[in-house]
Amino acid sequence: MYVYMGHMNFEHTQPYEDWFWEKNTIDLLNGQVIELKYVEKQIILSDDFAFDYDELIIATGSKPAFYNWPGSDLRGVQGFYSKQDLELLETNAPNNKQCKRAVIVGGGLIGIELAEMLHSRDINVTMLIREDVYWGNILTKNEGMLLGKHIASKGIDLRFNTNLKEINADEHGGVGSITTTSGDTIACNFVGISTGVVPNIDFLKSSGLDIDNGVLVNQYLETNLQSIYAIGDCAQQRVSLPNRKSVEAVWYTGRIMGQTVAKTIAKTRTPYQPGVWFNSAKFFDIEYQTYGNVSATCGGSEQQLYWEDNSGEKSITLAFDKNSLTFLGITALGLRLSHPLLEQWLSEKKDMSYVIDHLPELNFDPEFYPKIIKRAASKFKEQLISNEFESNS
Ligand SMILES: Cc1cc2nc3c(=O)[nH]c(=O)nc-3n(C[C@H](O)[C@H](O)[C@H](O)COP(=O)(O)OP(=O)(O)OC[C@H]3O[C@@H](n4cnc5c(N)ncnc54)[C@H](O)[C@@H]3O)c2cc1C
Repeated sequence: MYVYMGHMNFEHTQPYEDWFWEKNTIDLLNGQVIELKYVEKQIILSDDFAFDYDELIIATGSKPAFYNWPGSDLRGVQGFYSKQDLELLETNAPNNKQCKRAVIVGGGLIGIELAEMLHSRDINVTMLIREDVYWGNILTKNEGMLLGKHIASKGIDLRFNTNLKEINADEHGGVGSITTTSGDTIACNFVGISTGVVPNIDFLKSSGLDIDNGVLVNQYLETNLQSIYAIGDCAQQRVSLPNRKSVEAVWYTGRIMGQTVAKTIAKTRTPYQPGVWFNSAKFFDIEYQTYGNVSATCGGSEQQLYWEDNSGEKSITLAFDKNSLTFLGITALGLRLSHPLLEQWLSEKKDMSYVIDHLPELNFDPEFYPKIIKRAASKFKEQLISNEFESNS
């Protein structure tokens, strides 16, 4: 996103300098794999080049999830995942003369990046959001409302409870408008599809690998075929780890999987242990961090406490087990929390009174920021004593 916004060049996004590969005796080969031949222990590239392997690690990532809306093959409709998508965006939405309005379908993490990018070039943006609050399938209602207000304050037109029905062509065969399931027609020149990602594994369908949504792996990241592993976004745990999804499309779990499989291949067979769930993002000016389990619809034995400061731009949600008062997770908006401390508290299963007493220690905001977590802690104490819990269910 920061390349399109002019904050950095593409070269800055490359993980390593060009000399890194040779220096570390890694042969970097640019090519597309189109087939896996298990019996021959070979992969085939699109130029018919056959490559032998002893051990194979599949790490082909995700691709945007596209549903078959009428008109989704029109010029000006695209997802946002790869460098090629970034280049296409430069063609589809270079400025607000060629692209007066953009419609983004889906209000998740990639959708908000697209919105901020287009907004940075003064392109009008409408977002179609399936739920009744922003990112309502992940955030609690209070958090979704807070972020929705912030995003709308930037001039983004948010349409809640709204799905895409079809994309209509203009007289030149590009995007001219969209129709929503509520029957509204919105004139636009660009449609960004950000309705999630799916594992990028089509080329493996007839390889003999067990495949569901992703390539199925056991806890050692081994597939059903000997000497073949899958890691990152394209891997799906055959048996999900407790409180985790079977496919987790975030960078740090991919990195842990890479480290894990490297140990196994170096003859120390090691199970994948992702530790405490964590994710972070930025919604225009508001940073988001979540640790452990804070569910959008707090049901079962989960109970939540919610604090929001007077600005309406900072909040903390604490989740806990109502029977044992064990701390389950935390989500912060507009505040930075200490990752190592939270990992420790969650893995040690601290109770809520400990967490609230020590809450100010979580502060990880840069210097000169007001230390407001103390205020949140005293509000939480009152809520806990008076049983004022949030219930989203
Ligand atoms: C816009 C955007 C923003 C994101 N922001 C965040 C974030 O803030 N935090 C976070 O945790 N995660 C974020 N993610 C997700 C994160 O990028 C992924 O989880 C991570 O990159 C997955 O790593 P991976 O190695 O599994 O796959 P990828 O990084 O997708 O790498 C897959 C590689 O395989 C190559 N490839 C694919 N098919 C073939 C083939 N047939 N032959 C040869 N090569 C092939 C691709 O070209 C690519 O180089 C974001 C993703 C997007 C798209």
